[in-house]
Amino acid sequence: MTLPCIALIAHDEKKDDMVAFARQHQQALSKFRLVATGTTGGRIQDACPGLPVTRLKSGPLGGDQQIGAMIATGEVEMLIFFIDPLTSLPHDVDVKALTRLATVYDIPMALNRATAERLIDFQ
Ligand code: PGA
Repeated sequence: MTLPCIALIAHDEKKDDMVAFARQHQQALSKFRLVATGTTGGRIQDACPGLPVTRLKSGPLGGDQQIGAMIATGEVEMLIFFIDPLTSLPHDVDVKALTRLATVYDIPMALNRATAERLIDFQ
């Protein structure tokens, strides 16, 4: 049986939060296949060596769009995207694009830790 897949992305100011989230919920996250944008995935791997994470390209180099494609093909069933609301983001359009695809394909999308915790608990 293939495990459901979660895609993980965190903006730079939120990467520490993502690492803390992954550490705290390593057990729950191990019940999923995990993919992540390059830097986010690297940080998770360093913090949780026992948790397999497939690293895609870095977000600004196309990793977000790889995740978008995986949502469109049904390979990603849930998106956890820790966005930074306090910094103006040059790649703000990526957030819009992924929000749009998550809506089109009706997959759960968590933009903050509180929602992400409820999502992984709920599975
Ligand atoms: P990163 O990408 O994990 O490679 O930094 C995240 C982003 O899109 O900002």
